Amino acid sequence: MIKEMRTVEFVVLPASKAKARKMFQIAGACRYVWNHFREKNLADYQAFKNGKAQRPQTSFFSLGAEFTKLRRETDWMQELPCAPVRYSLKYLSDALGQAMAGNKGFPKPRSRAKTAPGFTLPDTCNFRIRKVNGKYSLLHIPLVGWVTLTRKGGNPHEAGDPKQVVLRHDGHRWRAFVSYEIEEEEKMDDGEVLGVDMNVRQIATSDGDFYHLPDLEKKEKRRKWYQRKMARQVKGSNRRGDTKKKLRKVSRKITSIRKNWVHQTTKEISGKCGTMVVEDLKVKNMTASAKGTVENPGRNVRQKSGLNRAVLDTAFGEVRRNLEYKCGRLIKVNPAYTSQTCSRCGHAEKENRKTQARFQCVSCGFVSNADTNAAINIRRLGMAQLHGEGTGISTVPMNRETDARLPHGS
Ligand SMILES: [Zn+2]
Repeated sequence: MIKEMRTVEFVVLPASKAKARKMFQIAGACRYVWNHFREKNLADYQAFKNGKAQRPQTSFFSLGAEFTKLRRETDWMQELPCAPVRYSLKYLSDALGQAMAGNKGFPKPRSRAKTAPGFTLPDTCNFRIRKVNGKYSLLHIPLVGWVTLTRKGGNPHEAGDPKQVVLRHDGHRWRAFVSYEIEEEEKMDDGEVLGVDMNVRQIATSDGDFYHLPDLEKKEKRRKWYQRKMARQVKGSNRRGDTKKKLRKVSRKITSIRKNWVHQTTKEISGKCGTMVVEDLKVKNMTASAKGTVENPGRNVRQKSGLNRAVLDTAFGEVRRNLEYKCGRLIKVNPAYTSQTCSRCGHAEKENRKTQARFQCVSCGFVSNADTNAAINIRRLGMAQLHGEGTGISTVPMNRETDARLPHGS
């Protein structure tokens, strides 16, 4: 048995207006202490950056001690639970640490308009979760009381030990993200290996199956339309407020459709066998490179951002992350030439790829769906890596002549 963390998302029904108001107050207090301690540390940070001072003390422990003082002096804060507000400094401490290390910029202030209200119930704050029936559970938030948690399809990790709850308001309703520690059987290695090819519009597996992305074009168009409409409207006007609400609603819908699709698809794929092979694409780097930096602006920004949108649309990162924990073993292979190599004879040539969808080998005449062919190649590379035979023997071009015809890194 191994211990793992799993997060389950619920919709929160606060049961009364007073409880909902209190939740917003806690979130407001979190924002207040974030901004307070952010500002307090700004001068120290700048002095440290200019080499004029020692690195300031920004651990969660030291910030927490200062918070205790602040809370004692602030009347309105005493009516709110201590632990969740204090815990927002954990996030600030992490962000300050990243800034001091030079990995990221100084944390930004949190504003009422731009930051989604939310707070975290850490393990230390004695929250309780009680099951009512298959559909509903109750969550006890200190100084707020019992609120109802509900989730379509019930709670898959009911038997787990809840360690932390993140509460966030998405502009429409409160949501709770409960992290459960669960004990899981180690996944059986059945010896089967499946190759997974992720393309812009679909996922193909080496056994010939396809998983098409949900069609979100209509909703994306509507989202764009609202965005443009909002840009024309007068700031602060009621009409603009209405448009903003509608925009948020369609954005939420898009996110939830995509999220559900990722979960269902990865569950189905990982149910097929224990070992998955995926392309080692650095999705993050691909998306980061287009904009470039201020000193070195990226080239082909427009073309690339189109592609990036599409890449993001498929939510590859999420698919990968989900496969990683849902299947027993995930092997990442170098994707070079996988789309141009014949999965039957190993002949690699650009001409093999007739169209985006069709693969036809110019050497042996093998015809297949281009993505399925790629998935089979990915599977083979994974097998080679698994059995220690080096990588990509069959996919490296045999002579220079072929090499010259192949675009690099595709
Ligand atoms: Zn061939």
